Amino acid sequence: MGRVWNFSAGPAALPQAVLEQAQRELLDWNGSGASVMEQSHRGKRFIAMAERAEADLRELLDVPDDYAVLFLQGGATQHFAQIPMNLASPGDAADYIVSGHWSEKAASEAASYARVNVAASSKAGAYLHLPARDGWQLDPAAVYVHYTPNETIHGVEFHDVPEVGAVPLVADMSSNILAGPLDVRRFGLIYAGAQKNIGPSGLVLMIVRRDLLARPGRPMARIFRYAEHAAAGSMLNTPNTFGWYLAGLTFQWLKGQGGLAAIGERNRAKAALLYDAIDGSGGYYRNPVEPSSRSRMNVPFTLHDGSLDAEFLAESEAAGLLALKGHKALGGMRASLYNAVPLAAVEALVAFMADFVRRHG
Ligand code: PMP
Repeated sequence: MGRVWNFSAGPAALPQAVLEQAQRELLDWNGSGASVMEQSHRGKRFIAMAERAEADLRELLDVPDDYAVLFLQGGATQHFAQIPMNLASPGDAADYIVSGHWSEKAASEAASYARVNVAASSKAGAYLHLPARDGWQLDPAAVYVHYTPNETIHGVEFHDVPEVGAVPLVADMSSNILAGPLDVRRFGLIYAGAQKNIGPSGLVLMIVRRDLLARPGRPMARIFRYAEHAAAGSMLNTPNTFGWYLAGLTFQWLKGQGGLAAIGERNRAKAALLYDAIDGSGGYYRNPVEPSSRSRMNVPFTLHDGSLDAEFLAESEAAGLLALKGHKALGGMRASLYNAVPLAAVEALVAFMADFVRRHG
């Protein structure tokens, strides 16, 4: 079996050029005679690679010097807890904007460490739209505002950064980081599990304003304290070396693609192609999300007749279109269109969808 078009929500498709480079370098990385996975993270070669990865990321996102870039572990889920441990002291309040499954989970995990104020929620509307900004009940005493710019399961995405005044904005960008240009200065802390737009799972990228690292948080072991990770250059303990390396290759690939403006344009075109196919299908396919809240990255959709789902999945897989099954919470289908999914993949998907309609009526 050759490579297929991969619409997985995560772990997701990686750029083929990145995988090929990793394959070429697997046995003998950088003239060292060993794999990158088999060497010390304290070695000169690894440190040079790690520094280059950080520099490339800083260039891509124009990360200012007063922000630290951290290469951490634990998945985004661990940081649902670790963020309030670091940014809130016992008794402090934190605002959470709940716009889908993942922000709901982030709020619930934070409740062990902060007084969580759900400042807005679109749960009553089945997460089919973003909570309207003018209805947010922000707590004036909150020590940060957390939101999830892209909800991977519900397929809703903020297309602007919300204005929340001087309170640091914390964003779980697991499923839309690097999907287009971003003004990092609008954020106090950005974090993302790597397994969608960056690299393999097991790596978490964090961009955090350095002044926030001085917050006392609460008594905790050093391994949980972001300031310690920053002081140690993300090498407080052994980092995910292979993940860091692959992330670095992805950053170089992104630069070669023309950077985030170019990739953002491409992502817009990919999403438009699929949404137009869904909306133009006369109700055969349906995406229920309010159009202005629709995600560029994750497109859930249903068939007009759910009894056709199994056939759609079997036939799409046979046609080389992988992982279109929707999340169990929503059923139906979901196509994830991360950076490494080319326009040709979306063209193949919409052609398959049209053909499916012709054959199944
Ligand atoms: N946040 C978002 C937006 C996600 O999509 C996911 C995973 N799909 C998570 C958090 C959880 O990530 P992890 O499994 O790395 O903990």
